Amino acid sequence: CGIVGYLGNREAALILINGLKRLEYRGYDSAGIATLSNGDMFVVKEVGKIRKLEEAIAEKTPPGTVGIGHTRWATHGKPNQINAHPHTDCSGKIVLIHNGIIENYSVLKQLLEKTGHSFKSDTDTEIVAHLIEELYDGTNFEQAFREALQRIEGTFGIAVLNKDEPDKIYVARKGSPIVIGVGEDEYFVASDVTPLIPHTRNVFYLEDDEMAILTRQGIITKTIQNKVVEKQVQRITLQL
Ligand code: GLU
Repeated sequence: CGIVGYLGNREAALILINGLKRLEYRGYDSAGIATLSNGDMFVVKEVGKIRKLEEAIAEKTPPGTVGIGHTRWATHGKPNQINAHPHTDCSGKIVLIHNGIIENYSVLKQLLEKTGHSFKSDTDTEIVAHLIEELYDGTNFEQAFREALQRIEGTFGIAVLNKDEPDKIYVARKGSPIVIGVGEDEYFVASDVTPLIPHTRNVFYLEDDEMAILTRQGIITKTIQNKVVEKQVQRITLQL
């Protein structure tokens, strides 16, 4: 339902929580965040209001200056803590959030089970983490990300972190909006502009089949077929 992401120099968890609050108006049944810090991954998720997630985070704030957050509106698998996003792969290296529906998830799930993957949730989303893991050779994460997205049928707005590249956020879009915010030495991703407004007015939108890699040096944009695309940053002027 709602996506936020942050890569910069500030504590990611707090920015993500505030971003999720600004997406509450869309409706949701559960919410969660993931951050990376010093080679470790931290995932916190809760059923119900963002306030509950916020309380869990206040008790023990996941460290890190890179992270992703999600509000879920369940389509596959009932609303519970396990089915809440983010979702991880078997190795615990890959973590992701997803808006939309993976239409061919049951075919993919069967294939992945044959190659030894076991699944924790009942979601269509979790399949994507395992599919990337399956296609990842340990060196070229970007290629695995692109290949996985090409094998998916359905819709996605997606944001992925991986422990091997702790200073990057991979995002992509097909049929579910993704907007990227360009700050000063910090970058944001969201499913609509509301979470970005407090931080930056400089944004650009991904089109269907486009992806972006947020890095600390800037943003790379291309299609999921690996064709480079130039995006124009635009200034939002709407009053919110
Ligand atoms: N299909 C996914 C799920 O049920 C994502 C739903 C959403 O867009 O929030 O977990």
